[in-house]
Amino acid sequence: MAVKPVVLALSRAGEDTAHRVAAALGAQVHGRKDRVRMASVFFPDALEHVRALFGAGVPVVGVCASGILIRAVAPLLADKRTEPPVVSVSDDGAVVVPLLGGHHGANRLARDIAGALSGTAAVTTAGDVALGVALDEPPEGWVLANPENAKPAMMALLQGGGARISGPAAAQADWLADLPRGDEVEIICTTEPCPTPRETDLLFHPQTLTLGVGCARNCPPAELWDLVRDMLVESNVAPGAIRAVATLDLKADEPAVLELAKRLGAPLRLFDAAELEAETPRLANPSDVVFAEVGCHGVSEAAALAVAGPDAVLTVPKEKSANATCALALAPRPIVDMQGRARGKLAVVGIGPGEAGWRTPQASRLIQQADELVGYGLYLDLLGPLAAGKPRKDFPLGGEEARCRYALEEAGKGRSIALICSGDAGIFAMAALVFELLDRSPDAGGVSDAARRVEVVNAPGVSALQAAAARAGAPLGHDFCAISLSDLLTPRQDIVKRLRAAAEGDFVIAFYNPVSKRRRTLLAQARDILLEHRPADTPVCLATSLGRAEEKLRYRRLDELDVDEVDMLTVVVVGSSQSRLARLGEGPRMYTPRGYARRIDGDLAGEPTAVRQET
Ligand code: SAH
Repeated sequence: MAVKPVVLALSRAGEDTAHRVAAALGAQVHGRKDRVRMASVFFPDALEHVRALFGAGVPVVGVCASGILIRAVAPLLADKRTEPPVVSVSDDGAVVVPLLGGHHGANRLARDIAGALSGTAAVTTAGDVALGVALDEPPEGWVLANPENAKPAMMALLQGGGARISGPAAAQADWLADLPRGDEVEIICTTEPCPTPRETDLLFHPQTLTLGVGCARNCPPAELWDLVRDMLVESNVAPGAIRAVATLDLKADEPAVLELAKRLGAPLRLFDAAELEAETPRLANPSDVVFAEVGCHGVSEAAALAVAGPDAVLTVPKEKSANATCALALAPRPIVDMQGRARGKLAVVGIGPGEAGWRTPQASRLIQQADELVGYGLYLDLLGPLAAGKPRKDFPLGGEEARCRYALEEAGKGRSIALICSGDAGIFAMAALVFELLDRSPDAGGVSDAARRVEVVNAPGVSALQAAAARAGAPLGHDFCAISLSDLLTPRQDIVKRLRAAAEGDFVIAFYNPVSKRRRTLLAQARDILLEHRPADTPVCLATSLGRAEEKLRYRRLDELDVDEVDMLTVVVVGSSQSRLARLGEGPRMYTPRGYARRIDGDLAGEPTAVRQET
């Protein structure tokens, strides 16, 4: 799914233009707080807002000076193939400049905007300007099989050369119609593999073919791959000409099918048995045996036809190996809109404790790509502009199981869902429950079969203990552990057992869920147990609402740790017997030394090097 651009309005002068651009693109306007009057989202700091969007992979159209956008994203620039387009538009809408991602959609975006505003798209990428077409960015439904030749070919054309457009699909390549004609460049349009001897030869595949596959559970991936490869070789079809791999929805998590789609670089599309059964009149090899097994008279032929659409024909009927089948369908035109559903995806995303700078780019991207956000309302609110305009399902604190079930079942429908957790999703959060539910059968309290077949992606996040440590100094510099003091789900005696072991082991301990309104005694018990094993003046850091506006950091001696000072938005970091508070100019900083003292003191005492190296 292409991510919708966001249009930024930074000033009153450009506000009307921003709304016109947004209307033309079907996009949202985000406006600078106190400067513009109407927007879906208001932000206080333009540079930070642009960075957050860009980092999340959102195309940015700024109605503002180019320099603002350049300054904002410059520190983030790393990979031109994955970064989203950035386009600036002058306040009056007269000039539209694709700043970044020219061959990644920005030129097209700029042209669309300029068209809507009757302005000029200041396209500067060489190929586009002179040729009116980017040969390395063919339209949807076409693939350039040898992108390494794009540059030499465009150079040849820019130097006055012309192109000969050949191959069986030349007539379908109307997007090449305006190129100057000549012999310097050969552009071959075909679904067949084809040699390109000159470095100015380009090979474009129209994606008119679809590959249907079926296989037994746990079919070896190599078996399906070999079957498909042999079929493609025999039928003289280039892998790049395949628009999609299609199969029965029961195979959504079949390793052989997933690996095949990945190796072909083609999307996977799924159909249920009834949808495949509807293709029966078009099948070359309808089978009653298959019908008895899965409820349709064929999988590979039917899936190939279903995904390619009603005008397609079966071009290579079913071929099979011991455990797999495959077939090819051919559509009359390059396929743009595919039928069928994608495999559902659940992204279990840790968003860090609060502030945007502590959120990973991967987490932001997964949130941006999701169709719907699911989570505890407070966490979704923390996302600010990232969540703007996204459908979201809020669940109350304590509704964890309902949250996970909902997210999995929605993903099971073929949607892309992001389950949002604070900190790291795998640390006292939803990820483990997701897998626990996936690990149960539907009749044993698990989720539906469809939900069990979704793709699950986990994105790590900065956990509260890391955020607390960064603020405090370096309290986790030596061995540490994390203990949740919530006895809602864990028997109290287990918690106490772990407390004693951690006390004895002299671990630095981060206490999560230290108290709640009703649970107030375990933290006092923990303090008393720890006091049996470490000094009364052991430093303790109370870190509250880290990364949020209400953030608060306090230091206490262990024997003065007062439960009433602690709330459920606090992580309590208790030092080991070695932890120290350094009194620095800016205030206290907590750290736990790791044994360098012996080296440093050794250096001061002039000990021989050999001894020092042993430590
Ligand atoms: N997955 C989260 C932990 C969730 S459990 C993570 O990795 O951080 C909830 C507990 O985490 C809270 O009771 C508190 O102890 C701690 N916590 C979460 N966010 C916090 C924050 N911003 N500041 C301080 N503590 C936080």
